[in-house]
Amino acid sequence: MRPNVLNPLFAPASSLPGVGPRLAKLFARLLGRDGEPRVIDLLLHLPSGVIDRRAQPKLRDVAPGEIVTVAVTVERHRAPPPSRMRAPYRIVTHDETGTLTLTYFNARKDHLEKLLPVGAKRYVSGKAEFYDGMLQMVHPDRVVDESQLDKLAVLEPAYPLTEGLSASHVRRAIDGALVKLPRLPEWLDAAWLAARGLPPFTDAVKTLHHPSAPDDLEPEGAAWSRLAYDELLAGQLALGLVRAHLRRPAGRASLGDGRLRKTIVAALPYALTRSQSRAIEEITADLAKPERMLRLLQGDVGSGKTVVALLAAAAAIEAGRQATLMAPTEILARQHLKTIAPLAEAAGLRVAILTGRERGREREETLARLAAGEIDLLVGTHALFQEEVAFSDLALAIVDEQHRFGVHQRLALARKGEAVDMLVLTATPIPRTLVLTYFGDMDFSELREKPAGRKPVDTRTIALDRLEEVIAAVGRAVDEGGRVYWVCPLVEESEVTDLAAAEERFADLKRRFGAKVGLVHGRMKGADKDAAMARFAGGDTRVLVATTVIEVGVDVPEATVMVIEHAERFGLAQLHQLRGRIGRGRERSTCLLLYRAPLGKTAAARLTTMRETEDGFRIAEEDLRLRGEGDVLGTRQSGLPAFRVARLEAHAPLLEVARKDAALMLAQDPSLTSARGGALRHLLYLFERDEAIRLLRAG
Ligand code: ADP
Ligand code: MG
Repeated sequence: MRPNVLNPLFAPASSLPGVGPRLAKLFARLLGRDGEPRVIDLLLHLPSGVIDRRAQPKLRDVAPGEIVTVAVTVERHRAPPPSRMRAPYRIVTHDETGTLTLTYFNARKDHLEKLLPVGAKRYVSGKAEFYDGMLQMVHPDRVVDESQLDKLAVLEPAYPLTEGLSASHVRRAIDGALVKLPRLPEWLDAAWLAARGLPPFTDAVKTLHHPSAPDDLEPEGAAWSRLAYDELLAGQLALGLVRAHLRRPAGRASLGDGRLRKTIVAALPYALTRSQSRAIEEITADLAKPERMLRLLQGDVGSGKTVVALLAAAAAIEAGRQATLMAPTEILARQHLKTIAPLAEAAGLRVAILTGRERGREREETLARLAAGEIDLLVGTHALFQEEVAFSDLALAIVDEQHRFGVHQRLALARKGEAVDMLVLTATPIPRTLVLTYFGDMDFSELREKPAGRKPVDTRTIALDRLEEVIAAVGRAVDEGGRVYWVCPLVEESEVTDLAAAEERFADLKRRFGAKVGLVHGRMKGADKDAAMARFAGGDTRVLVATTVIEVGVDVPEATVMVIEHAERFGLAQLHQLRGRIGRGRERSTCLLLYRAPLGKTAAARLTTMRETEDGFRIAEEDLRLRGEGDVLGTRQSGLPAFRVARLEAHAPLLEVARKDAALMLAQDPSLTSARGGALRHLLYLFERDEAIRLLRAG
């Protein structure tokens, strides 16, 4: 249970004064939350900069372009003549050194007369400029009288905003949220905090929202560092807890004799790459040990992870046990089955599939055979989690493209057997720092080389106004017997609009190329998706218009052209994944990145990187650099938690400290029962690592 003291922080934001349902919706958009935003979300919405209103020069000394707070006396109002209502409303003010004109567009006269009565002294804050040789301020940010001056001439944090939500809405909501901030027990070591000059959590939050010096808002500053450290520590603790949980009870050794592996390797139409062989050795060595395996197999798209997974499964099966391979989508699960089936048959492996689509008799039969140990390898999707799925003796669970699954799901799969070994396949090249963050000290195998014979992909960037030429090129590729992916853009955060764009392009291309054009998107029924993929793989259709559903793992070696529309809207990692769908066969491949001009700076840099390299590791590093944020994998796309507070470019050194600290804390107090442990539970809840807490309760 969440400690009571935290409840006010998890109350909906709409419980705060001044936040109604309309604003709550805008806040949800601003804070990137699906559900209703909560008080804690506001508190962790940190300023992106600071507006310094402390400078109070005389008018004579005002530097144009700077934000100032000036004390002026209102001299007269100059309303626009009735014939020119659009003209600005001007108010002339002065101090003993000069004159300042305040300029308002679309002004409300009565409002301004009340705000700035003639003869009154007012403090006005905003950016002053020279216009026609006169000092003027267009729409001052603030106008107050003497009594409110101390609230005005201060540092004012500037927040990221969203349309419809003003700075003052955000300010007011956050101030309301700050009032709810309770006193919390300290979870960090007092001496350590003192040595580093770090404030308590609560003070850090308050400082960031009410800085007293611009430095207070530096990511490297004490306040931000404290919160970043807390966030990183929470993440590392959660990982540590999961890992401890997975490691217990000790694993069982699965020692195979190599017979199945030999047959499979002999049946392969190619030789394994060196790094594939090494990965297989590392994995089978783990399997043979009496400890549980928790290993990440990272290999760029097309590096050949599937066959490594199959050979790992074969090793477990040689020991007389079972294995399972879980894919994130139905398409992928079926594709795995298709790849694996002939090899499995050669080796006499009994393979079956279980997805949401298997129902009735067929499903019953598979489940019965599984429980009886008559299936060696079960391939599937989320459906594998279902209660009724019971193995006779599951030794190895392999999770493909794992970043789509949460820790919890990984655990659910591990519970399907006794001390199940885990192998996680990921195509997303993850920089080292991030591996640490997301996977803790998981063991790690890498496929760095690509299978021999791969041709480099010719990548070009083309402005969208040359669409006709692109379509003509697609036509030529189709005439020559090629296969073309056409990926439609992510228009908005909504599948519906993505879909509309894809359907429109589909209709358009169909007019040109007739029945050779197919369509696949995320909202299609499983069977329809498969059918569309199968027609493309089999060559019945030659052009496949797709939303990003094809991104993960689809393997059609004959495809040689990849068109990505509005490539500027995709992240680097995503573009790389998409391009990885081509360049898999013997023919030369071309990737056409269509963009709408003009390109922003970052988008231009992304496309340049794509043109320059196919090295997934370089691309991942570049992605990290361009984003300067911890969410290289793209939260929305990956389901991984991005950091709310920590900025890896500033806080990466803290990550290593947090990792060590977490290990030490868990060594001393593995179930967080000491006073310090109790305080740490608060931390886990604050950063929503409660999954880990549930594990604690499970013992
Ligand atoms: P990914 O790592 O992206 O999952 P796959 O396992 O789908 O890659 O493999 C991509 C393609 O490369 C498949 O067509 C597979 O048959 C082929 N492949 C795998 N290993 C090799 C190899 N050593 N030599 C040649 N082709 C290979
Ligand atoms: Mg794959």
